[in-house]
Amino acid sequence: MSVNVLFAATEDRWAEYEDPLRREIAAVGVDARIATDIPAAEVDYIVYAPNSQVKDFTPFTRARAVLNLWAGVEAIVGNPTLHLPLARMVDPALTQGMIEWVTGHILRLHLGMDAHIGAPAGTWAPVAPPLAFDRRVTVLGLGELGAACAVALAALGFQVTGWSRSQKDIAGICCLSGDNGLEQALRVAEYCVLLLPKTPATENILNARTLALMPGGARVLNPGRGQLIDDDALLAALDAGHIDHATLDVFRVEPLPTDHPYWTHPRVTVTPHVASETRAAYSSKTIAENIRRGEAGEPFLHLVDRTTGY
Ligand code: NAP
Repeated sequence: MSVNVLFAATEDRWAEYEDPLRREIAAVGVDARIATDIPAAEVDYIVYAPNSQVKDFTPFTRARAVLNLWAGVEAIVGNPTLHLPLARMVDPALTQGMIEWVTGHILRLHLGMDAHIGAPAGTWAPVAPPLAFDRRVTVLGLGELGAACAVALAALGFQVTGWSRSQKDIAGICCLSGDNGLEQALRVAEYCVLLLPKTPATENILNARTLALMPGGARVLNPGRGQLIDDDALLAALDAGHIDHATLDVFRVEPLPTDHPYWTHPRVTVTPHVASETRAAYSSKTIAENIRRGEAGEPFLHLVDRTTGY
């Protein structure tokens, strides 16, 4: 019997996903009708991006799951009409993209690359950069992305501390949890990478008090969510020189408004929410596997916990 898969995302995404989704769902042996216009009462699975038109899930009376195309679920997890299982996106390409953004931007700062790239011809100032062994990085969030970045940074030689809600045990990483753990993690954070989800518990986790715990001259990298940072507190810490640099990929309002002080601040690098993109060729495999599981009566992968919000 054929299953009905509604693709509920923006039109440009459909152009990108139509072929890979058809291919991957067929590859897991599921016979599916995949379209953008299936009547709600006939839909079995909803492939979903929170910026789609679908906001009311009440009419999807026989649907079995909502399969999110994004890793972040803050825009859907609180939807009061959604009583279906909700799976978020986890895929190796998303993880690899994040590893590359995080390690690339840390190495840029660590090696002082800008000093050479921007230096006038003839500048010869042979100051050796420090070694990774002598630098401490803290990763807040040790989930799919945070743990992978922590391991990659440790493999480069950095001394890595990670912090999460539940206690973790990851070889080569100093794993901390809880309120005391956060304080300890920040006190050693010469670089602080934010890879937490946006939830009520994580909003403004970097604020005037927590920024002050970090060592003078620390660098902040935020590829998580804009709401993790109290922007005024960060700007004040940057102006005071307590925080040396912030590399920010995500913002409370996106695109970042053209008059936002981050754009022109000499100690801030803005990247336009590109740290890690969901790529159809890979993420379609995750979607297909979850549809296969649903049809086989197996548990879905990467389910969101409604109580914690991620
Ligand atoms: P994940 O697997 O759900 O991991 C989240 C981590 O945060 C977990 O380790 C979790 O702890 C920890 N955490 C959550 N709430 C916490 C709290 N209150 N206190 C301490 N730790 C807490 O998520 P992920 O796949 O790694 O993704 C992380 C975030 O990255 C996403 O939510 C999204 O916002 C962002 N993201 C950004 C981009 C981009 O392009 N910029 C791309 C993809 C994702 P436990 O392990 O104990 O549960």
